[in-house]
Order: sequence, then structure tokens, then C-alpha cells
Amino acid sequence: MHLRDLLLAPAAAVALATIGSSAWATPPQPALHDAFNAHQTYLYNAEVAGFGMRMPGSVGHQKTEDLVKRVVAADGGQFSTDDFVAETPRGKVPVHTLIGKFNVSAIPHQPIFILAGHYDTLFKTGFIGANDGGSSTAILLGFADALHRAPKTKMQIWLVWTDLEEAVKAFQGNDGLYGSRHLANQLRAEGLVPRIKGFFLLDMIGDKNLDVDKESTSTSWLQDFIYAAAKQIHYEQYFFTYSEPIIDDQVSFANVGIPVVDVVDATFGPMGPGYDAMGEYHHTNQDTMDKVSEHSLMIVGRTVLRAVEMIDSQN
Ligand SMILES: [Zn+2]
Repeated sequence: MHLRDLLLAPAAAVALATIGSSAWATPPQPALHDAFNAHQTYLYNAEVAGFGMRMPGSVGHQKTEDLVKRVVAADGGQFSTDDFVAETPRGKVPVHTLIGKFNVSAIPHQPIFILAGHYDTLFKTGFIGANDGGSSTAILLGFADALHRAPKTKMQIWLVWTDLEEAVKAFQGNDGLYGSRHLANQLRAEGLVPRIKGFFLLDMIGDKNLDVDKESTSTSWLQDFIYAAAKQIHYEQYFFTYSEPIIDDQVSFANVGIPVVDVVDATFGPMGPGYDAMGEYHHTNQDTMDKVSEHSLMIVGRTVLRAVEMIDSQN
């Protein structure tokens, strides 16, 4: 039937008007990557950085835990924690990894996808980690909000704020990655590994000068989804112009057999001799909010969620 026929038939025109008004009453839900609110994510980043130092046991750490718990609950996620006491070169340190589970259905063996990032900061006086610790905490909060607004994925999506990622003294041996190692071993013990389709780690992705590493120990077929997603939404210039290995929380999950990608900007500030291998601002008190941008959070947030949509459509 042509539109003109409808216009000439009053009864059909009324029916069309009714359908039209009900469609207006319930606007379609945005796709997951379009539901990501970069401005709100930037505000979360500023709020978390404003808590100050956030190493385990600090007031800032507790405030971050409270914020994560509040946002997960407001967004309808199931909140849980993985708590234990780590033996470290500094003695016993209490560790609280925070987990928000979204889109959990009654389907047995429902596939799971994990998006993670650390929320602790380095043990260093005056270090507030706006990018290192702050941006990863904030982008996961932005993901929680997006999951609340978007249509349900078929996979369960777990948001995991890892704790005590940073080394207590120096990143060598088993010093560092405490929270992720404990959780990964837990997942293996519970027999959950086969259900976990993949794991994306977000780290230092708030950097104003965004340049995401094609991290060389990551699972390449899963990394391809990130690049394909970036290309689809025209952000590919920000991804994979260099390839460096980074020891980060993804290693703990790779070690139990989960496909992983470290989505990390490994060049933070000027690079070169005399600077830290990850840039002048890395692990210094110059890691502050003026080095972070809403635009970078938007690029990474939308790209990662687009990749999740693509993977979800295959599961
Ligand atoms: Zn760090």
C-alpha cells in the first residue's frame, strides 16, 4: 500500500496515527556504544581523582569503593566483592576487588564477557592517578550507566574494578596484580573459564593525547574486534600505531586460559631517554586531571562497547 492510499482512507489514517503516537511514547533504546555518556564519565573521573590517593587502606580507596557500589546499584547491576588479605613486601594488605554483573539471565551456561580496570593507585605520597587508576575506574562506571540504558546483551557483562594492581614496592616477581590474580584463580576453581568469551582491560585510556597500544601479549583475534569496532565508528587513527608488551591485570586472566586484550595507552606524556618507559607523567605526581580528556574517554568507551556488541551478536 502506498502512503497516498492511507491518506485517502480515514480509518487507516487513524490506525497509523495511533501506532505513531505509541512509538513516540517509547523511543527506541540506544545501541550500547551510543548509550555511553563521555561527559558523565569525565565527571566520574574528576570525582575519583578528587578523592586523592587511593592505595588500599586509604580514605580515597574507601570513597571509590562506595561510589562504585552506589553506581552499580543505581544501574541495576548485581554487586559483589572478592576480598582477601595479600602478603606483600609491605606486609599484609587487605584487597577488595569490586564486581558488577549486568544482564544476568536464567539461561544455563549463559556466556560471560568481562570489562575490567584497576581502581587502586600507586603507593606514592601525593600521587592521585587521574589517568592511572582514575580513568579506568571512571570508564567502567560509564559502562555501568550505558548497560542500564541500552538493550540487554545476550552475554552477561561483568564490570570488574581490580584492586592492588600496582606493585607495593617494585613491579617484579609476584609484586603487583594481586587482585586480578586472586579473582582469575577463583574463576578457574569455580569452573567458569569456559563460559568467559573474553576479557578487555582498560588502563590509562583517559590520556588527552590518546594512542592505544597494540599490546603484544594480547589475544590477537580478540584484539581484531577492537580495531574493527574503531574503524566502523571512525576512530582507527587512535589505535595500534605501535606494539609494546605491558604487564598488567590481563596477564592474570590469560594465565587461566581466558582470551584477553589490554586496551592501554602506554605513552603518557613526552617519551624518551631519562623518562619512564611509559612516558614522563607515568607514576609521577604530574598524573592529574589536566592530562585527561573527555574526548579520549569517548573514543575508548564507544569503541570498546561497539566491540562488545559485535562479539555479543556472535554468541
Ligand atoms: Zn600504574
